[in-house]
Amino acid sequence: MPDHTPTVACHVLDTGYCLAHENMVLRGGKRTSIQCHSIVALLHHPQQGWLLWDTGYAPRMWDVTARWPFSLYRRATPLHIQPELAVIAQLDRFGLAPADVRTIIVSHFHADHIAGLRDFPRSTFVTTEAAYADVRQRQGFAALRRAFIPALLPDDFADRAQLLPRFSGPALPGLGATHDLFGDGSLLLVELPGHACGQIGLLAQTDSGPVLFAADSCWHSRSIRERRPPHPLTYLFVDDSRAVRTTIEALHQFAAARPDVRIVPSHCPEAFAREVGS
Ligand SMILES: [Zn+2]
Ligand SMILES: [Zn+2]
Repeated sequence: MPDHTPTVACHVLDTGYCLAHENMVLRGGKRTSIQCHSIVALLHHPQQGWLLWDTGYAPRMWDVTARWPFSLYRRATPLHIQPELAVIAQLDRFGLAPADVRTIIVSHFHADHIAGLRDFPRSTFVTTEAAYADVRQRQGFAALRRAFIPALLPDDFADRAQLLPRFSGPALPGLGATHDLFGDGSLLLVELPGHACGQIGLLAQTDSGPVLFAADSCWHSRSIRERRPPHPLTYLFVDDSRAVRTTIEALHQFAAARPDVRIVPSHCPEAFAREVGS
């Protein structure tokens, strides 16, 4: 990282969890239930102010999954959500109001990453053209098949969104081209294809060292370390199963080349224990 690259303050927050079987999350894992928390990161850039990496769960998940067919979502992933864990409820302890969050990076449009978007009526959204194009017309079952719940998207999402084309900035080892969000090297977006169309990760130069937020490229850090993908059954719900495996390989290469970077998949129990302050 060049000398002039600023660092960002970084607070990794828990927004609730769902239960999943370890052998689904990780091929060859145990048949026991594990808690898959949905984390978000509240970041402060010295010039660009406050921003969020995803918005996680929020209590409106109960409303939007009350009716068929979205009630199936709740049955497939039993939710453990508390109002005080919504991002908006956690802003208080940082002395922030929703309008203070200028930018929200949307890793992908699965419900467990976008449920809090409506709590931020003034923020600008950053995501990829590909991710938004894949979900914008989806309703009913076509949406549910992609774990997308249209009612979670703010009505003026398109007006406030900065939709990024394919990335062309300097490459990260293994992972390829980046997009430098503020042009100063502090926050680099990178494509993580497979799990969801147009999914992105974020390499943040934080006050406590570099962190790669890896979204749902995998659900457990062991996938990256041991090059072990999730159970093939989970491929029923992903955008491109071949790309899921390729991206896990790419992360394995990145981890070998950049051992200084802490990698944080959004639902990994190991990363959760390490990164989320008690
Ligand atoms: Zn996802
Ligand atoms: Zn997720």
